[in-house]
Amino acid sequence: FKTLKSADPELLETFEEELLRQNQNIELIASENIVTPAVMAAMGSHLTNKYAEGYPGKRYYGGCQCVDKTEILAIERAKKLFGAKFANVQAHSGASANLAVFYAFLKPGDTYLGMNLAHGGHLTHGSPVAISGKWFNVVPYGVSPKDFRIDMDEVEKLAIQHKPKLILAGASAYGRFIDFKRFREIADKVGAILFVDMAHIAGLVAAGVHPSPVPYADVVSTTTHKTLRGPRGGLILTNNENYAKAIDKAIFPGCQGGPLMHVIAGKAVCFKEALSPEFKKYQEQVVKNAKVLAETLIKNGINIVTGGTDNHLMLVDLTKNGITGKDLEHLLDEAHITVNKNGIPFDTAGPFITSGIRIGTPAVTTRGMKEAEMITIAEIIADLIKNKEAAVEKSAKKVLALTTKYPLYKNDILR
Ligand code: PLP
Repeated sequence: FKTLKSADPELLETFEEELLRQNQNIELIASENIVTPAVMAAMGSHLTNKYAEGYPGKRYYGGCQCVDKTEILAIERAKKLFGAKFANVQAHSGASANLAVFYAFLKPGDTYLGMNLAHGGHLTHGSPVAISGKWFNVVPYGVSPKDFRIDMDEVEKLAIQHKPKLILAGASAYGRFIDFKRFREIADKVGAILFVDMAHIAGLVAAGVHPSPVPYADVVSTTTHKTLRGPRGGLILTNNENYAKAIDKAIFPGCQGGPLMHVIAGKAVCFKEALSPEFKKYQEQVVKNAKVLAETLIKNGINIVTGGTDNHLMLVDLTKNGITGKDLEHLLDEAHITVNKNGIPFDTAGPFITSGIRIGTPAVTTRGMKEAEMITIAEIIADLIKNKEAAVEKSAKKVLALTTKYPLYKNDILR
């Protein structure tokens, strides 16, 4: 066999460019992280060659005796990590996991409650452009205009009014703890299934720095690649045996074909790493870093939605700063800081412009940065917000100093 270098130099060039970009940029996209070489090795392994439709011990293909062990390791570690009785590790992504949960518990036309995308929910939670919004009757709930926190009284009112079959809790752009206990109480009041999508906070939950939804929810989905720092993929957990059977059927043959055994191997490595004491320290630092970043931005006159954060992310409200989310995303990019523009609750700008940006600390924390670096980063961002283009050159120099001090991968990862 040829190496990638000799087989496809044109493609390798794009890899090299991306490695340089990742090395040089400060990554503040809240949903991104940097996997370990061990996770990457699993994903780039020969397990990609294997078809294994079905589940360990019950496959539709021969030769699965080895990958059965791989999948069992991933399942057992996921169960231990989150304290759940059942785990399905086959979902190809967070969206696939969520689709499978809907498929397991709902019929087209059924009513469910999900968090409004414009208030921090995810596309798959019932946006009109997604299958979840098109096939079901979605009743969106949101944050209160008073404190920008999830309006639990509104959730209760809507649940009593609409009698949903399912209530979905979880978010993509929400910096505060979610009250899973209250969600459970509301679900019980109306006889709804409680489904929690903990994709953003899974790493924090695993490390015990965010309350866990597992004791409260009927079913929990997550991605494995955000704070959890594993391969791109999905995971579904439950404590109910009947629900576990329904979920397994909904994933395969309901929504997917053959599982990605190399990715499942990556998940197994990720769960082992997440069970370690170092991972707990890492997650504690992620939260500390987010708090310091938010505090420093506030000190520099920048508004943070809800006035701070409990987790790994914050939403910056730019309405008083004379710059849109779109323009700030570009400006930060010029200085080699990567974020995403993000609507803020009750935003009057459209989703392509926005009045905010979302900032998260998982990736910079993986690089080893701590509170002092967060202060520097927040000051760079504040300078760019205030002085715009005039601040780009000096900001880029400061960013380069930081990224040089905290290199990404020590070994030559392309080899
Ligand atoms: N759920 C939540 C809360 C998310 O934030 C995301 C992705 O950002 C997803 C699901 C979808 O995950 P994926 O991109 O793997 O489909």
